Amino acid sequence: MSKRVLITGAAGFLGSHLCDRFISEGYTVIAMDNLITGDLKNIHHHFNNPQFSFVQHDVSKHITLEGSLDYILHFASPASPIDYLKIPIQTLKVSSLGTHNVLGLAKAKRARVLVASTSEVYGDPQIHPQPESYWGHVNPVGPRGCYDEAKRFMEALTMAYNNVHQLETRIVRIFNTYGPRMRLNDGRVLPAFIGQALRGENLTMFGDGHQTRSFCYVDDLIEGIYRLLFSSYNLPVNIGNPDEITIKDFALEILKLTEAKTQLISMPLPADDPKQRQPDITIAKSILHWEPTISRAEGLKRTLAYFKTLTTVELNKTEHRNFNAS
Ligand code: UDP
Repeated sequence: MSKRVLITGAAGFLGSHLCDRFISEGYTVIAMDNLITGDLKNIHHHFNNPQFSFVQHDVSKHITLEGSLDYILHFASPASPIDYLKIPIQTLKVSSLGTHNVLGLAKAKRARVLVASTSEVYGDPQIHPQPESYWGHVNPVGPRGCYDEAKRFMEALTMAYNNVHQLETRIVRIFNTYGPRMRLNDGRVLPAFIGQALRGENLTMFGDGHQTRSFCYVDDLIEGIYRLLFSSYNLPVNIGNPDEITIKDFALEILKLTEAKTQLISMPLPADDPKQRQPDITIAKSILHWEPTISRAEGLKRTLAYFKTLTTVELNKTEHRNFNAS
């Protein structure tokens, strides 16, 4: 009998790549999603596989599952600023109530659980790059507060289940990640810029573009998560690519890559937009023997190839971010 894995948020960007990985490693995968931001087209290629099943369910409500469970990967959550603005209450509930349900299920099944945390727990960081030991600089009542605080609560609850119930737990802090199956209209910078370039529009750079991010290709991230799950380390681990770039230079890279003839236009910087972000991956390197292997040039090439497969209708379905100046 193959081991059984529950993946919450399975129809999302990262969840669907986790489904691919665990199916290819021979696991039985139970994919759960309420489809509020996920899309079945990300996992439909598994639907005829008897090792794969899909359950439409909101994990903020009690979860009932028959049979044994060996692992749970909790990836259900909206994860882009456009979503936090539109559905802040669901965002808070899935990482608080949803995590409570996931941990309760893990306890009942004696399953090991890995929860998806985020670099957002560091807020607008005053320490650079960010090591796991940094406690962060978060505005609880700003536009990102619903996400950041829910994820911080999720980490605390996970540690409490680890301590009180001796549950086997893992916490990954995910930094900006990109790749195929990102939602074109999720408002995040990479799909925004690529979509704009492919439609022949100007690229909307927020602020002066001097803020930085460090982008990790999805395959590297999935490898890091896989190694963390099977390690014995239960404190948070940063997984991300330390190759940092300003948003302005990133926009110029996208213009060059897509051969777009358009330009950058400056828009107001959204409130609480972190000024810089780069993971310190010392722990991942030493404990998981992991570091990213895919350069931004290569990752962007693969991601652009994916976006080019979208239909014109999909490409034109854009949504604009609430330009909430700070
Ligand atoms: N950004 C931008 N133009 C856009 C979307 C985002 O300049 O159309 C900037 C945004 O202000 C931020 C960075 O790109 O500084 C990354 O934004 P994203 O929403 O992708 O993720 P974040 O890391 O801020 O959560």
